[in-house]
Amino acid sequence: MDQTREELPFDILFVGGGPANLAGAIHLINLANEKGIEIEVGLIEKGDEIGAHALSGAILDPTALKELIPDYVDKNCPIESSECRDEFYFLTKNRHHKVPFVPKYMHNEGCHIISLSKFTRWLAEIAETAGVNIFPGFSGTDVLYDSDGRSIMGVGTGDKGIDKNGTKKSNFEPGVDLTAKVTVFGEGSRGSLLREIDRKLQIFPADMPQVFETAVKEVIELPETNPFLSSDTSVVHTFGYPLGLDTKGGAFLYKMANNRISLGLVVGLDYEAPMLEPYQAFIQLKHHPLIADIIAGGKVLQQGAKTLSAGGFYTMPTLAMDGALFVGDSASMLNSQRLKGIHTAMKSGMLAAETIIEAFEKVDFSRRTLGVYEAKVKQSWINKELSASRNFSQALSKKGPSKFVHLGAQYISNGRGIKDPMAIATDHSAMKTIRNGGAMGNDIPEGEGYDGELYVDKLTGVYLSGTTHIEDQPCHLVVQDLDLCTNRCHEEYQNPCTRFCPAQVYEMVEETPGERHLKLNPSNCLHCKTCEIKDPYQNIIWTCPEGGGGPKYSIT
Ligand code: SF4
Repeated sequence: MDQTREELPFDILFVGGGPANLAGAIHLINLANEKGIEIEVGLIEKGDEIGAHALSGAILDPTALKELIPDYVDKNCPIESSECRDEFYFLTKNRHHKVPFVPKYMHNEGCHIISLSKFTRWLAEIAETAGVNIFPGFSGTDVLYDSDGRSIMGVGTGDKGIDKNGTKKSNFEPGVDLTAKVTVFGEGSRGSLLREIDRKLQIFPADMPQVFETAVKEVIELPETNPFLSSDTSVVHTFGYPLGLDTKGGAFLYKMANNRISLGLVVGLDYEAPMLEPYQAFIQLKHHPLIADIIAGGKVLQQGAKTLSAGGFYTMPTLAMDGALFVGDSASMLNSQRLKGIHTAMKSGMLAAETIIEAFEKVDFSRRTLGVYEAKVKQSWINKELSASRNFSQALSKKGPSKFVHLGAQYISNGRGIKDPMAIATDHSAMKTIRNGGAMGNDIPEGEGYDGELYVDKLTGVYLSGTTHIEDQPCHLVVQDLDLCTNRCHEEYQNPCTRFCPAQVYEMVEETPGERHLKLNPSNCLHCKTCEIKDPYQNIIWTCPEGGGGPKYSIT
């Protein structure tokens, strides 16, 4: 260990301030109190406050919440609406067709429309009151291992006050080594620490890689007179345009409180067309007559983007190691069939907490005892849900109408489908080169279709996400081979990073004719991780910037 770094020991350390870890920390303290166990619990979050990096649709299935906080309504849980009347549409370029049959997994009766940012802030208040030590603005940058190289001892937080050349500034503060008997990793989609653990200890199944979708979402305020606000419709899901049937994904539109709606487009990152631009596809969606009518007269209040780990059941990693447990979205527990992961994330955190209490009673924090967590997940309703959707993401990835055959087969066979398991390929390997027919792009070209109020461009979206980073720090996006970008990637894919990044972080500039180079704007980064996942050469590594940087979501 670096001698300038302090060690801060906890009994249990939660890494990440999302719903999995917050539910886990609250449940842990409650159980410890019941059993008379004294326990010191820490939780770190890279956003500058809890909720700052939380973005989701979101419709909450309250099953886990009811188990954790049965009187959540009396405790002022921030619910936007409990009216979840679903409508499902197939969109063509200019028309919409209401689907008469809404699959049962898309039914949302009994659920609540929420803002995940507000919800996690509310959970954090409960956790803090219970005694959890919450440290926002601290990013875990290194996993700490015991001398055996396999047992996890905690995480190191990043140094603060390093300039872009790697030199200490006057405000330099060394990071801290946070050690614990058990570290619970709930980093969310594509966790950078889980990535490193996997590189070292291969925790994810090699033949079933995690796959992802990227979502661009806005909260839009509508004028009081907007007819949608007084309509019976509260939840709209669409598929088809603008993605067509060859690209996985669809849109959601949920009615929130205060004349607001939540609108988003989810795009499967196994798309083939290098010219496809998810952000521009979102703008196209907003211009579709069905959506444009609903949002008419509105104004975008907040915008953001994030990825979701959509592979589910077959892509889950080993869930327990010596000294560590993996929960929530980072462990592929999102149910992409239901477009929901908050309830499964919370339940996984709670099962982790129950396992930790057993480990305390046995005074054994090795995989021998922590492995019980895997059995608990298998016996819980998480497993039942994820098993029933175990081939959903694969079926949705099928091209054209054949996807409906696969979706129908797995629907009537409780997840089994025509082939079980259906194979999964990595997202980055799916992209076709321009020469191989992958040139299809968006209907509305980049730079068009904006009005600055309801239809905003990427940079306005970054502004509306509240994203800031300290400018003078090492670039947190590591592009390993810049020549690859200017030559081979330009020729084969025309630099898709300039399109799949929703925040205009990557630009290919040609200041002198014939001399291209990749310009990075890391301060715009929304921490969505799309670039690391989708880059066809796997040439980009996303690392944690100085803690506190990134979006400042408050109503997403
Ligand atoms: Fe997302 Fe990468 Fe762009 Fe950051 S740089 S916003 S992680 S795609």
